[in-house]
Amino acid sequence: MDTLNKLNIIEKGRNLASLCTLGVGGIAEFFAEPDSLEGVQELIKLAKGYPVYVLGGGSNVIYPDDLIHGLVISTRNINKITWHDDLSADIESGYKLPGLVKNIREKNLAGLEFAAGIPGSLGGAVSGNAGAGGHGVCELIESVLAIDSSGNFRKYNNKDFSFEYRKCSLSCENIIILSVKMKFRASRPEDEEIYQKFLSLRKNQPLNFKSAGCTFKNPEGYSAGKLLDDCGCKNLRVGGAVVSDRHANFILNTGNASSFDIMDLIKICRDKVYGITGIMLEQEIKNAEPCFIAS
Ligand SMILES: Cc1cc2nc3c(=O)[nH]c(=O)nc-3n(C[C@H](O)[C@H](O)[C@H](O)COP(=O)(O)OP(=O)(O)OC[C@H]3O[C@@H](n4cnc5c(N)ncnc54)[C@H](O)[C@@H]3O)c2cc1C
Repeated sequence: MDTLNKLNIIEKGRNLASLCTLGVGGIAEFFAEPDSLEGVQELIKLAKGYPVYVLGGGSNVIYPDDLIHGLVISTRNINKITWHDDLSADIESGYKLPGLVKNIREKNLAGLEFAAGIPGSLGGAVSGNAGAGGHGVCELIESVLAIDSSGNFRKYNNKDFSFEYRKCSLSCENIIILSVKMKFRASRPEDEEIYQKFLSLRKNQPLNFKSAGCTFKNPEGYSAGKLLDDCGCKNLRVGGAVVSDRHANFILNTGNASSFDIMDLIKICRDKVYGITGIMLEQEIKNAEPCFIAS
């Protein structure tokens, strides 16, 4: 604790709500935004004994409205991209996914069309295999550089981990993803149409309100949004949190929601769908949990 207190790159008592797209979240006891991979390593070594959280774009996470004991590391300033050749690059985990989609399109590369309009950082996207239309970002990974609870760098080749719909086994490894080597491909004329098609799917989403995207994963063979709609969840409300009437899988912060309003509403929706259909929806939005206790 003393070491963290002394470090001047560490902020004490940072409110996380403005860093999360839902606009809710508690106060981080300690918070830092390192701008290098070595900076992350230094922080982990100094945080010995503390829970360490990693925050990317905050577009898929809920921190409770409490004091968050430990250190929250934001990857916002770890955002370099280094091209190896025409097709592959090392991209640091704080690089924004929308920026990456734009960057590779400008280079006439393709492979990430399905990610059109997905907010957040690359690290968060890899951790949850973010994607759409049956695709996920993990498909393009060659290797991942991460750091563990002792501050040791670890490299994972793509054969060292697995991924499926909105899941990547790296998220269970107690690591922070630092950098991702991805391989793209030369674009073909039809890629533009595919990109536009994915972009147009966003029109059905309530993007003018604060949200964290889809609340629940689609159970196999079903659409979570349709199940929620069929079970009458649209417009259900707890405090300032409401289920969108446009897309039932989106919970919106109408202005003054607390994270507990949102968590309660998630539970109400899950129970309602389970009670009517017997299907237990799995949460897609992550409840904030430490990556590890620094050792
Ligand atoms: C309007 C809207 C639309 C969306 N549409 C989609 C969609 O179509 N498809 C989709 O898949 N998602 C979608 N999302 C959800 C979200 O954008 C993605 O899940 C995104 O990839 C999360 O990245 P992030 O950086 O914001 O992660 P955060 O919210 O910061 O974190 C999410 C999780 O990832 C972990 N994490 C973050 N960075 C790292 C790291 N460097 N190392 C290890 N773990 C890390 C965090 O600890 C946390 O558990 C949408 C969200 C919004 C708000």
